[in-house]
Order: sequence, then structure tokens, then C-alpha cells
Amino acid sequence: MEETLQGKHAVVTGAGKGIGRAAALALARCGAKVTAVTRTQADLDSLVQECPAIAPVCVDLADWAATEAALRDVGPAHLLVNNAACASLQPFLEVTEEQFDRAFSVNVKAVLHVSQIVARGMKERKHGGSIVNVSSQASQCALRDHAVYCATKGAVDMLTKVMALELGPHQIRVNAVNPTVVLTDMGRVGWSDPEKARTMTSRIPLGRFAEVEEVVNSILFLLSDKSSMISGVTLPVDGGFLAC
Ligand code: NDP
Repeated sequence: MEETLQGKHAVVTGAGKGIGRAAALALARCGAKVTAVTRTQADLDSLVQECPAIAPVCVDLADWAATEAALRDVGPAHLLVNNAACASLQPFLEVTEEQFDRAFSVNVKAVLHVSQIVARGMKERKHGGSIVNVSSQASQCALRDHAVYCATKGAVDMLTKVMALELGPHQIRVNAVNPTVVLTDMGRVGWSDPEKARTMTSRIPLGRFAEVEEVVNSILFLLSDKSSMISGVTLPVDGGFLAC
């Protein structure tokens, strides 16, 4: 996608690996100033080596106070990608309190908190903005062993809609992308077994998993002015999975 984001500042969470890292690099290629937030310093070091213009912020987003402190000085942002998430899979009857709390802290609470920090600035400066939450097809379809993950992504979809409702009057658009499986580190945890992968791809009309770039392109579209009248949507990037 040829889109210039010159003069825009984008914050991307979970930018150390996978979709977040690719989104940070793509935003920088589009001319945006990029702040990359993640919790593993080595990932930030290699990211900055690859693209020296990217500003790194190292923080565990599950820590509310540390997040507040880490993001205090990132400056005015026009664009936000809430991408960081964790996925630990277990049968429903074996889910522990610790697994539940960890997943909700990162996948939901941090989305709310980082969005509050960034959107308050957008509102104060009255320049509007665009926020994209990275949800999942798992928000709308039950997947075995994904009880907690599915619940967090269902919460992200609803949070996206309420944020769109309340932030819209400040010209802040809020949308979600809902990808099918992408074979990143996270995707490989659940879907590297060929038999399991086949059961999923057989339910996807396009017959394959998504590529990282296909998710990033959808994020770029929703961040950009090309989607200037779109807010509150949960956009499947799933080859048709959720349509069936
Ligand atoms: P990866 O596991 O490859 O990357 C996730 C990134 O988020 C890592 O850099 C990770 O850092 C960071 N992160 C995780 N927890 C925290 C935290 N507490 N604080 C700061 N950073 C954190 O995941 P993907 O790229 O696959 O996933 C990106 C998004 O896409 C997620 O929201 C995921 O739910 C969603 N998604 C993924 C799908 C898939 O099949 N891959 C399908 C549908 C949606 P570290 O490695 O240091 O923990």
C-alpha cells in the first residue's frame, strides 16, 4: 500500500516480534515517526538496528504503573496499534487463575490503559487520531483450548466498539483487525502440528493461513485516511473463516 504517513507519530505495542514488529517497520517505511513498545530489550535492539529511526520503549504492559511511567514521555501520537498479547493454551477445565489474570492484563487491560494514555493526548491537542486493536477470529468463534484467549479477544472487540463510541466526537477512530492464524511465534504454539493446521485451513475458504504482511496491510488501511469514515469495526483478515 502506497500511503504517506509523513508527520504522523505512531505507537505500536508488542513491536518486538511477529505482526507488531512488521507493523512498526511498515509504518516507518510510510514515513511515520514510530515508537516501538515491547518487553524484551534484545528485540528492541535488533529492531533499532534494522530501522534506526524507530524509538524503543521497553516495558511489561501487564504492569500498569510501569506502563504509565514508560509512556509518559513518548510525546503526542496520532496513531496507535494495540498489538501486544499473549496466548497460553489449556483445556477449559485446567485454566488457572494465574493464566486468566496474565492474559487479561496484557490482552485487555493494557489495551484500555495504553489507549487512555494516547487518546487523552489526542483529545487535548484536538488533532484526532486512529487506533487499531489487534483482535482475532478467536473473538467470534470458539476454538478448543482457547477459552481464556477467546474471552480476551471478545473483550477487545467490545472495547473497540465502546472506544469508537466515546472517542468518535474527538475525531478519534477506533477499529480492530481480526486475523486468522498467522505463523508467527504465537501462531506456531497452537498450529504448527500439520494435522491441527489442516483442520483449521479446511475451514478457511481461501484454504490457507494469513501472512504477516496481509494483517499489516489491513492495519495500515485502518490507520490511514483511506478509512476516514470507518470506526468501530472488527475487520476479519481470515480468508472467509468467520463468514462460514
Ligand atoms: P508474537 O508472540 O509473535 O509477538 C507478540 C509481541 O508482543 C512480542 O514482541 C511480545 O514480546 C509482545 N508482548 C507480549 N506480551 C507483552 C507484554 N506483557 N508487554 C509488552 N510486550 C508484550 O505474536 P503475534 O505477532 O502472532 O501476535 C500479534 C497480535 O496478533 C496479538 O494481539 C495476537 O493475539 C494477534 N493474533 C495473532 C494470530 C496468530 O496466529 N499469530 C492470529 C490472530 C490474532 P515478548 O516476545 O518479549 O513476550
